Amino acid sequence: MSDLNFSCTQCGKCCHNLRLPLTCQEAVAWLQRGGNVELLCEAVPWVVEPAASDALAMHKRQRSFPAWSGELPIRVIVVLAATFKGACPHLGSDMRCGIYDSRPHVCRIYPAEVNPFLSLSPSHKQCPPEAWTSPTPFVRDNQVVDAQTQLHISLLRHGDQLDIAVKAWACEALDIQSASLSNEGYMAHCPSSEALLSVLQQTPSIADGRSSRSQWSMVTNQAATFDALCLAGAKSMYASASADGPSRYLGFRPDAPLQEQLA
Ligand code: SF4
Repeated sequence: MSDLNFSCTQCGKCCHNLRLPLTCQEAVAWLQRGGNVELLCEAVPWVVEPAASDALAMHKRQRSFPAWSGELPIRVIVVLAATFKGACPHLGSDMRCGIYDSRPHVCRIYPAEVNPFLSLSPSHKQCPPEAWTSPTPFVRDNQVVDAQTQLHISLLRHGDQLDIAVKAWACEALDIQSASLSNEGYMAHCPSSEALLSVLQQTPSIADGRSSRSQWSMVTNQAATFDALCLAGAKSMYASASADGPSRYLGFRPDAPLQEQLA
């Protein structure tokens, strides 16, 4: 959300989004204020290095770390996300943000997106119509016009890259080794706030070397994906999207169970 545009000082609708992606530094601050943070993990099979002209692959490469799933080389993308039920814990009854001056970048860029491959459509957002036009058009040709918002988007993308080693280290230290197949859902891991805070505050001096050898399970709720991953030599696991617990699968599609689970 840009300073020029609409935040909880205006309507507060976007403050009910349930998950806010955070940089590592923001996650530390969020945890220190008593909030919850999850690690959302997804993985992309990475058998060959894509051409530098493949912009989408380069985007994924820049925000991921290398690992293995069985015999399959993969890259793991980890998003730290503040989670809450209902309204953000910092949204006051007057619909104002209680941490406005230090609110996360993602709140400052809303309704824009960090991911340059997502289209910006007012119909997908909860902002009032004037948020897209006043005082100047917010988006033109799917590009954010406002300079302040552009700056925060750049900072977020840069932060994503700087945080990779810390995220790889955090997964290693917290024994997190399962990820969804990218674009099918997420594996959401919710360690204790104390453990996550402690890990995020350490310096991962050897994280890169360790993460490149780490073994991950690829989790899916789709029988066809499970079979394809097994064929590719991956260490795959089936999980229902309805299962609960400190690590759970958040699927984008309804469960398509394995035959043995239907029997
Ligand atoms: S931190 Fe502030 S701006 Fe961001 S979601 Fe919470 S109340 Fe809204």
